[in-house]
Amino acid sequence: MEMYLCFDVGGTNLKSAIITNEGTIIIKRSVSTQTEKGVTGVIHQFQEIRDVLCRKLAIDAKEIHAVSVGIPGFVEMEKGFVTRAINLGWENVSIADMVTDALDYPVFIINDANAAALGEMWKGAGNGHEQMVCLTLGTGVGGGVIANGHIINGTHGLAGEIGHSCVRMKGGRPCNCGKKGCLETEASASAIGYYGEQAARNGQSTILAKKWQETGEITSKDVAEAASQGDSAAQKVLDTAAYYLGLALANMYTITAPSRIVIGGGAAAAGDLLFAPVRKWFDYFVFADVKGTDLIVPAALGNDAGIIGLAKLADMKYTSSSMSNL
Ligand SMILES: [Zn+2]
Repeated sequence: MEMYLCFDVGGTNLKSAIITNEGTIIIKRSVSTQTEKGVTGVIHQFQEIRDVLCRKLAIDAKEIHAVSVGIPGFVEMEKGFVTRAINLGWENVSIADMVTDALDYPVFIINDANAAALGEMWKGAGNGHEQMVCLTLGTGVGGGVIANGHIINGTHGLAGEIGHSCVRMKGGRPCNCGKKGCLETEASASAIGYYGEQAARNGQSTILAKKWQETGEITSKDVAEAASQGDSAAQKVLDTAAYYLGLALANMYTITAPSRIVIGGGAAAAGDLLFAPVRKWFDYFVFADVKGTDLIVPAALGNDAGIIGLAKLADMKYTSSSMSNL
């Protein structure tokens, strides 16, 4: 049995786990990411976490076979190089070499949304599907595209960024990638909350207006709740987000023709209130004989998708590198 040490580095939380080559999480831990201390500060956290986890399991650090790291940004997987990770403040960092120097393991890196896609393919809603697309609707829209069982990484690690596909040619809101009209600014959980708040401010929804007065903000969960109570403005917000998701996914379909499209993240908790219109609009835009009904499904692993995908990455890479050394 191989054991892998996995780090899912977020702008706020640094999640970690030791996971077997069969995908069993043996132990996991979450701490605040010390982004203010830069790359070396985060690597120092890796060392501390490794020591704590090994001590708790009463294992020797040498029993870990490889390390994998998920990063929210543009990642060149083969080079072990981060082009840019805005939320971490990292730019042009040879992170894999630095972690190997500090911890002395083979180190593999991947974009965090791509890790979630691998996790869902291995143990979640994409199980058995080697052609797969995964979207995570959170603060942003994370994307992962899997072809023949492998993540498509592209030039400079820019592939699979479905969240930045342009869905509004006019009038879109500015995205933090520097463009306007991205899927992310129309269909992320934050975007659904934003448009829900607009409906509250404009007096289009009494339910949302009441919520907004109570809490001072509207979340995607509030919009889903209002929609489930029959609020037409909230239903319209979800339908509009679904329209853009359906459009982006239908265009995506023409490139890789996935046999499964998995949607996760906070906004996916709306369930059929979101999935029914996403499938409707996907069917509207895609080839006539393709149907979103069985193709588009909710993610199954929740918050563990990324960390499980990191173990899958480590296992794929570690196994292939040990084979080539034979
Ligand atoms: Zn963008």
